Amino acid sequence: MKNLLPVERYNETAILSLPEAEQHFRSGLGPPVPRVRGGSETLAEIARRRYGYFIRMARDNSACPGHQAVVRKAYFDVVRDSTLNACATTKEGYNLVGMNEGAIVNLHVFFYVLMSHPEVLPDYGFPHKEAARVASMFDCDWRAPLSVVQSRVALSQGATQLPQPRDPFRQSIADTLATMALDFVYFHELTHLRRGHLHYLKTETGAGKVDESWLGSAASESAAKQAFELDADGGAMEIALGPWLRNKSALGFQSNEGGPDEAVELWLFAVAFVFLLFDPSTAAVAAYRNQDHPHPIVRLMHLYVQGSHVAEQHRPGSRKRFEDAWWKALELAGNAAILFELPSAAMFAINRESMVEIIGERNRIALHLQQLVATHASLKL
Ligand SMILES: [Zn+2]
Repeated sequence: MKNLLPVERYNETAILSLPEAEQHFRSGLGPPVPRVRGGSETLAEIARRRYGYFIRMARDNSACPGHQAVVRKAYFDVVRDSTLNACATTKEGYNLVGMNEGAIVNLHVFFYVLMSHPEVLPDYGFPHKEAARVASMFDCDWRAPLSVVQSRVALSQGATQLPQPRDPFRQSIADTLATMALDFVYFHELTHLRRGHLHYLKTETGAGKVDESWLGSAASESAAKQAFELDADGGAMEIALGPWLRNKSALGFQSNEGGPDEAVELWLFAVAFVFLLFDPSTAAVAAYRNQDHPHPIVRLMHLYVQGSHVAEQHRPGSRKRFEDAWWKALELAGNAAILFELPSAAMFAINRESMVEIIGERNRIALHLQQLVATHASLKL
């Protein structure tokens, strides 16, 4: 049985209390989920403690100067919205990151369902305790509120509700996967702030915030927005995977006897599903030219290209191991998607389009990012 990476839990004192930032958050990103005091462990409360703790840690860590500028007046909260989304903005010098309650709930429930199937990650825990209790997710859009998702899942005969793993080890792995996926989303938003995307978009387009829903833009704007999405993905990966690539255990996870390669593979598996769930459409890569976000398979390919470069920098000789982990994770995610008939643009494209086309689109957007950074002093890599 493979080893676990249980998530660290933080207590209530980790939560940031900044009344002024809270006001700006409310007006810029929406009303937050009400606090539950007295040690209650709702998913929203756990996320608040985790990302509050991360901000505190980064603020106190002078060894991380790149981070200092953004975390000095950073604030995180959970937005009272049951759709799968996250957002970021700046107001009066405050850097505000919001995560919808729907992102936290849906990702947890999704990974519970996944790990309740004995054929998903069968090396982890005791899969023989599980049984296939979901027949199909063909009709599901996991961006919708959970009640809508629930009404669309086709359960197996005899099952009455969305399943959770029976094996406590697999339940713990599901929590770890959900946390890895949410960390990626959190660090993605933080990178939008840290690398000056918000400043650029406010100045050039008047945009008040960024979020992760799929909207079309004017072509002139979408080119920059797409470049920033790739940049935020790459930045998030670097923050999350850096410690593992340096052979250390990462912030927020307990020590992992299984070794960093295993952790990286598990992380890539979790993050692949962020891209699968955020876009269930069946649209080709070329159809995304005027969207705010690049096609999800292009974003996954960017993680591959950038990740193998970063891995080599952190741990010379590890490029191949990272690339193997990426392909393995994508294969495992693809197999799980097939098992549940999960609709996703990423899997649709990888089965129909050539690697040359996908990498070509990634390179086109990455080049535009380089050009933007070279011509705008406020943007930093
Ligand atoms: Zn983004």
